[in-house]
Amino acid sequence: MIRSENLTFEYIRRDEEGNVESIAKALDSVSITVKRGDFVAILGHNGSGKSTLAKQINAILVPTEGTLYVDGMDTQEEERLWDIRQTAGMVFQNPDNQIIATVVEEDVGFGPENLGVPTQEIWERVERSLRAVGMYEYRTHSPNRLSGGQKQRVAIAGIMAMKPKCIVLDEPTAMLDPNGRREVIRTVRELNRREGVTVLLITHYMEEVIHADRVIVMDDGKVVMQGTPREIFSQVEKLKEYRMDVPQITELAHELKKAGMPLPDGILSVEEFTEAVCALR
Ligand code: ADP
Ligand code: MG
Repeated sequence: MIRSENLTFEYIRRDEEGNVESIAKALDSVSITVKRGDFVAILGHNGSGKSTLAKQINAILVPTEGTLYVDGMDTQEEERLWDIRQTAGMVFQNPDNQIIATVVEEDVGFGPENLGVPTQEIWERVERSLRAVGMYEYRTHSPNRLSGGQKQRVAIAGIMAMKPKCIVLDEPTAMLDPNGRREVIRTVRELNRREGVTVLLITHYMEEVIHADRVIVMDDGKVVMQGTPREIFSQVEKLKEYRMDVPQITELAHELKKAGMPLPDGILSVEEFTEAVCALR
């Protein structure tokens, strides 16, 4: 679905005469692959290049060096731009910036309408997408009155209605309360599992990545760790070097282990923790 080879990107700032004032290397030789149907989480401290990578996948930005393929399409081929954008849908942090209509179902229908989808099919897609994110009963409501989590689910339905093969979510829960965060993550997981949509979830909440098939950790424009959630969270000290937290329960288990309790590495949930502790007796 996604393959990058030594993808490098520099933000170049120029003065009025066009002379280069500064260069910021935001992506430094990033090589990743994401298979169709995968759920991949991307973690990294602020400024590590996550949003820049997301914008590359949607061809909002194109590589300075190296290549990026989205469903086999090279993002540097301008004539594929619309195909690429239709293949990879984007969901951003702030749901208020993504909702444009005054009625939920019209908002969700806006994307397919723009793509020239026939009216009857638009309504079918709107209904299906709203059901998929659990917002069908709100179809005639005004988005303004919804909670943050509900708005973000409507934004996700709007992307789903365009039938992308892949969806890239750039910190979709950063502005939400814990309930909203849970709703959105549950929705994204279900889209992945039931509809087979490839998911790239960028987040800095560790708890949101434990269900991913794979985790990619970025630091300073580079991919510094890759593996299953358990492989990644088994390396608490290394994660801390990259200024990352680990899930609270993982940290507790790690500290207890350091203090001499024979617990396994990479405990991801309270259930696993309880089981491991009970097994000690
Ligand atoms: P993240 O999403 O992980 O916080 P970003 O991709 O936003 O990281 O930023 C990566 C690096 O690129 C940072 O050093 C940031 O300052 C720089 N950067 C981001 N956007 C711009 C821009 N429009 N112009 C110049 N530098 C930028
Ligand atoms: Mg960002």
